Amino acid sequence: MSISYWQDQAGAKTKTCDVAIVGGGVTGLSVAYWLKREDPSLNVLLLEKGGSLGAGATGRNAGFITCGSVEHFNRLYERWGEERALDIWRFSEKNLDLLREHIIQDDSELEFDDHGTFSLASTDEEFHELKKTSELMQKLDIAVEVLHEQDILKRLDARNFVGGIKYLKDASIHPLKLLKKMAARTDVVIVPDAEVFSIESINGGGTRLRTQNFNVESTIAVLTLNGYSAALNPYFRDKIYPTRGQIMVTEPVAPFMEGPCYANFVLDYFRQLEDGRVLIGGFRQLERATEVGYSDHITDTIQAALYDFLQKHLPKLENRKVTHRWAGVMGFSADGQPLVGSLPEEPSVYFAGGFTGHGLGLAFHSAKVLVDLINGRDIPSFVSARRF
Ligand SMILES: Cc1cc2nc3c(=O)[nH]c(=O)nc-3n(C[C@H](O)[C@H](O)[C@H](O)COP(=O)(O)OP(=O)(O)OC[C@H]3O[C@@H](n4cnc5c(N)ncnc54)[C@H](O)[C@@H]3O)c2cc1C
Repeated sequence: MSISYWQDQAGAKTKTCDVAIVGGGVTGLSVAYWLKREDPSLNVLLLEKGGSLGAGATGRNAGFITCGSVEHFNRLYERWGEERALDIWRFSEKNLDLLREHIIQDDSELEFDDHGTFSLASTDEEFHELKKTSELMQKLDIAVEVLHEQDILKRLDARNFVGGIKYLKDASIHPLKLLKKMAARTDVVIVPDAEVFSIESINGGGTRLRTQNFNVESTIAVLTLNGYSAALNPYFRDKIYPTRGQIMVTEPVAPFMEGPCYANFVLDYFRQLEDGRVLIGGFRQLERATEVGYSDHITDTIQAALYDFLQKHLPKLENRKVTHRWAGVMGFSADGQPLVGSLPEEPSVYFAGGFTGHGLGLAFHSAKVLVDLINGRDIPSFVSARRF
């Protein structure tokens, strides 16, 4: 969005604060949490384009809190080498530990379950890779278990899978309840319906953000826009790619699954929710060319594929009604790892994003690292935006 000369003449009011955060998802709230924890006297304002928190991917995701990244661990290992692959894994494990300690605690309202997630193979080729992955992980002391077809039938009531592995430390949650709990634990002023459309440096220091109705002047600004980053600032155009993901949810059935599952090389995923409904998402691979951009509309092809998957693999879902369908915008980075940094042209504007479909597993820790950067401390090179 831009503003016309006529609108500008109307004379927007100016709010001032120490830190202005743009984006009311899990990253924005996490940054606010860590900033306030370090310095409770900071005046922090959070601007969100939507009418409430979680209007973006955080209110639209599947709720998996997964360790690692978007690919099986053996691929991470081959791409980055042993030391770096382990660092990346431990970074996301720490994310879960931090979430547990600081936000989740013993709150049963969040529908938090940390009994692991499964990765299931429907081909021998993928099962072979999963077995290789599990050997590697066990060697590095990462908790994982191999499952055969019969185990999958018994523990997940899922058919047409030849084998799989269970990541014993993964978790799942109600993502919007998690976000609201973060907001409740953070002393931050949240301004909804406030779309920021420009960022300017102020002569003499600081940053001015413009919205339709008011401007914000702050010592520093933090962009936590993930998939929407490039729509606000061109710096992100070749770094964080807006990528759509689609989901469907069925009517409730009696509990039958031991835990949430991934399938097809982590591209597709399904879980049974606390009320018995089954959520399934993925199949972006069917429309790769069009599952990009900022629109959150759903498509017939992917929604049909999600339903067919349920019919093929989960007998308990045979002919069950679908009650909800939606889409959301994720931010994919070129190497699958998050980006934490500041804008080269405007060093008082910081950012974190590029979670590549894994923000619940990465954002809380990434936000902590961003606050380290703001306060002049070193950050791990694999999350630093300077690597691009
Ligand atoms: C279908 C789907 C399934 C997913 N499943 C999982 C999963 O199971 N596990 C997992 O870890 N991750 C999952 N993800 C990814 C995860 O949701 C994201 O990584 C995470 O939510 C990113 O959080 P964020 O706060 O960085 O971005 P967002 O939650 O997208 O927040 C950005 C916010 O910025 C606001 N905004 C945009 N532009 C402006 C502007 N100009 N001014 C002000 N505000 C603005 C948006 O309205 C939005 O609320 C999934 C995503 C989708 C779409």
